[in-house]
Amino acid sequence: MSMSILYVEDDLVQATLVKALLEEEGHSVYQLSNGFAALEALKNSCFDIVLTDHYMPNMTGVELLQEITLKNLEIPVVLMTASNDVSLAFSALRLGAADFISKGQDGKYLKLIAPVLSRAVEKHQLQKRAHQLSRQLEYEKHISYTAMDALSQGVAVLDDSLRIKYCNPFLKKVLKLESSQKVIGAELKWLVSACLEVGRINDRAEVRQAHLMVVALLTGTEKSLRLYVDNCIYELRSSAVGDLGHVLTLADITLQAEHLGALEKVIHLAPIAMFAVTKSGRIVLGNLKACELLKIQSPDKSVYNLNQFLPSKYRHSHDRLIEHYFQNLFDNEAPRAMRGGLDVELLDFDGDLIPVEISLSGIEMQGEQRVLASVVDISHRKEAERVMQQAHQLTQSIVEQSPFSIVATDTEGLIIAVSPALENMLWYEKEELVEKHHATLFHEQGELESRASLLSDELGIDFNPGFQVLTEKARRGVVESSEWTYVRKDRTSLPVNLTVTTLRNEEGLATGYLLVAYDITQQKRASEYIEHIAHHDGLTGLPNRALMQDRLHNAILRGKRQRDCLAVLVLDLDRFKRINDTLGHLAGDQLLKTVAARLVEAVRESDTVCRMGGDEFVVLLPDIQVVADAELVCKKILDLVSKPIVVGANKLVVTPSIGFSLFPDHGDTTEELLKHADMAMYHAKHCGRSGFKAFHPDLASGNLENLAIEQALHDAFRNEELELYYQPKLDIASGKIVGVEALLRWHDVERGFIPPAKFIPLAEINGFISTLGEWALRRACNDIQALRAACDSDIRVAVNVSPRQFESATFVSTVASALRETGLPPNALELEITESLLMADSDAVKSKLHALDRLGVVLAIDDFGTGYSSLSYVSQYPIDVIKVDRSFMRIEQKQNIAIVSAITAIAEGLELEVVAEGVETVAQLDFVRAKGCHIVQGFLFSEAVPLAKLASSISAIEATTKGDVYGGVSSL
Ligand code: C2E
Ligand code: CA
Ligand code: CA
Repeated sequence: MSMSILYVEDDLVQATLVKALLEEEGHSVYQLSNGFAALEALKNSCFDIVLTDHYMPNMTGVELLQEITLKNLEIPVVLMTASNDVSLAFSALRLGAADFISKGQDGKYLKLIAPVLSRAVEKHQLQKRAHQLSRQLEYEKHISYTAMDALSQGVAVLDDSLRIKYCNPFLKKVLKLESSQKVIGAELKWLVSACLEVGRINDRAEVRQAHLMVVALLTGTEKSLRLYVDNCIYELRSSAVGDLGHVLTLADITLQAEHLGALEKVIHLAPIAMFAVTKSGRIVLGNLKACELLKIQSPDKSVYNLNQFLPSKYRHSHDRLIEHYFQNLFDNEAPRAMRGGLDVELLDFDGDLIPVEISLSGIEMQGEQRVLASVVDISHRKEAERVMQQAHQLTQSIVEQSPFSIVATDTEGLIIAVSPALENMLWYEKEELVEKHHATLFHEQGELESRASLLSDELGIDFNPGFQVLTEKARRGVVESSEWTYVRKDRTSLPVNLTVTTLRNEEGLATGYLLVAYDITQQKRASEYIEHIAHHDGLTGLPNRALMQDRLHNAILRGKRQRDCLAVLVLDLDRFKRINDTLGHLAGDQLLKTVAARLVEAVRESDTVCRMGGDEFVVLLPDIQVVADAELVCKKILDLVSKPIVVGANKLVVTPSIGFSLFPDHGDTTEELLKHADMAMYHAKHCGRSGFKAFHPDLASGNLENLAIEQALHDAFRNEELELYYQPKLDIASGKIVGVEALLRWHDVERGFIPPAKFIPLAEINGFISTLGEWALRRACNDIQALRAACDSDIRVAVNVSPRQFESATFVSTVASALRETGLPPNALELEITESLLMADSDAVKSKLHALDRLGVVLAIDDFGTGYSSLSYVSQYPIDVIKVDRSFMRIEQKQNIAIVSAITAIAEGLELEVVAEGVETVAQLDFVRAKGCHIVQGFLFSEAVPLAKLASSISAIEATTKGDVYGGVSSL
């Protein structure tokens, strides 16, 4: 090290020598010869050291040293002197000289100068550094104590013998340490007593315990100590500063503790189980739920370890796990929440397994790291999961192994899943379908269309022929199986039974549909066969009653829709039973088969021939419009069926009787139409077998008696069993028979006498009256003309004319020809017409009456007074006679007297002849006579008699009147 040296020496030789020596060793030397000059140089320049001779004029070396010290120049000074003066050396050193060199005679000292100087410089520099350091230390201590004085946390510094070296005001205040004197340097017991004084342990008897706690704190056994001062909670901590002592800190943790307390309360009452464990697994906290779950007491009261509650499978890894969790939860020293949702199992105190979900988090409790476990009992969830899993597996295996084709779709019909059975059934691969096609892929468009229209009819809403047609019922909550046609990938089809159900989520909203189908080809074949058997007659192969009814029903529906007509024929073989009985059933069967074949042959392909059983057949004719059409078919059937049939050795002739009804005229239900056709058939049988008859309302009104009579009337007429009787009419004035009324008489072999009142209305209805009337007219004309000729009489014959007969276009010409053919003069014929004919007031009636009038026949109104008791209209027609109805002969009724009086009065005014009929008593005769009637007719004189008796009957009456039997008459 080279030094810059200030060298003070008054001896020039000496100075030169030493300077040369030092310079030779690399130092720079500034030499001055006195103290004053040296002081001046120190003021202006910088040197490392001063080397001075002691004995110099004006100022000695020691004096220079004193000046330097006085001036605080802080530069080491080494004193050199020739004398061997020890006391000088001591006083120099005492005054602060850095060293001392004594100049000896031998010059050895010269070698010492450089090392001494160098040592002095070094020492000086060290001292200077040490001085600086101690100053800095003092400064820093000052700063930290000042800072700590201002802290709102207590701090105290203890030395190695636990005496207080520093204590800040906060600590003093909290621990109520009055003055610093008392504190600084006090021994450990101050702290104990301070704690006792202010802390919670204020019972003198517990001094020992307080002492132990303080020792535990200072030795680090306890991390902190809690003090409760004036409603506040303080935490006292200690940290050792090497061997030198301790630093105590005191923090106010009142708020923190409150928070923690609240947190503990929350944890305690939390609705899920929570417990905290230490690193060793001790359970230090367990809330109500946790105690409940694990069936334990509160951990405050009893000691538990987590191990007790772990099933053996977790136990071996438990320690490692705990360590792992602590590491994870507390790395970086900061506790944090750890993953949740560990599904594990715990044992409760009784040893029962509880499935739980555990979430772990790290917390700091009273300065210790704990793992807080939140535990949820998931037994219910586990059970539900198990059930779900089971259900899922079940469903899965059903779908996988089911022989049914199963398609799951979304709500729009997009295929979401299909079963293997579907792949087999429809020859598609799952991958081709799922998410690629709609379920309508398997359906025929035509079928969708027809079902759409059916569904529209049923529900009253329009449906497009799409997926909705398949699902609409299911959407409405109806689970229905129905037959559909599925189309395979190669476009071949197969019949299936399809059930559609709606898939719904937990809220009940539809999420899609499940279409379950199975192949019913076999089933269909079987059922078609059964169907055939069930619907066809085994013998003839014709449709049977059930099928016929079904077809009839459909035909009626179609008829209603298209306003079509339809005929139902019921056919029964006449006397079939006798063939069966005499020739045997085989022959009967053979016959029936042939009849069936002929029936089929007789009708069109669109018609249906059915066998109802026995010898009864039904034929449905859909294309019939009027009765005549049906009659044509009946005739054809009759002809064909009636042809001889060879059965074995026999040639048989069977004739059918056919009845038919028409839709809609004779009914619009299957039952009605069949019943009515049946009635018509019986009617046909009745009217002589081997014929056909249309239904007539009379058949239905139960008036079969009338029908029989009608039929019998026909027969009687054909067989000429009808007769005409004649009832005489007496002229009151002359007492002579002036005319007769022709009245029909019918005596039936079975029924006896049938009055005209019974059969005439029936003949009116069926129109037979025209034939009957014409016959009566001719017969009457003929009979009476013969009588007139025979007896030379000019009596008149009155013939009843029914309205139907009168309305006939040929009526007038019929009358004319009857007169012409019989020779009866027109004025000898009286035609009795009914009041109702005139009421019609038709031009046709009027012109006919005039024509008849022109012809010269007499016109009478029969049963007068029973219709409209008004004579006003009579004047408009060429009427000659009115016949007062016999009901007015009940003269005990005043009303009748009045009516008859009125009629006769008006008739007189109109110059009409008045005939009273039904006169049975003399009183009645007297009455009508008094009222001005001219002619009387009645049982009082005679009933209607046969022509053969008429002449004698007339003579008898006239004789009687002459003989005045009736007094009154003769008196006229
Ligand atoms: P109507 O033209 O009023 O004939 C008179 C009916 O009175 C006859 O009944 C006759 O027998 C009955 N009669 C006569 N005098 C008496 C009497 O004193 N007391 C009672 N209680 N009845 C008496 P009938 O023969 O039974 O004829 C009933 C009806 O049948 C006739 O009533 C007539 O409307 C109709 N009728 C009879 N023959 C013919 C016919 O040839 N052609 C038509 N169109 N109708 C006929
Ligand atoms: Ca009459
Ligand atoms: Ca009459």
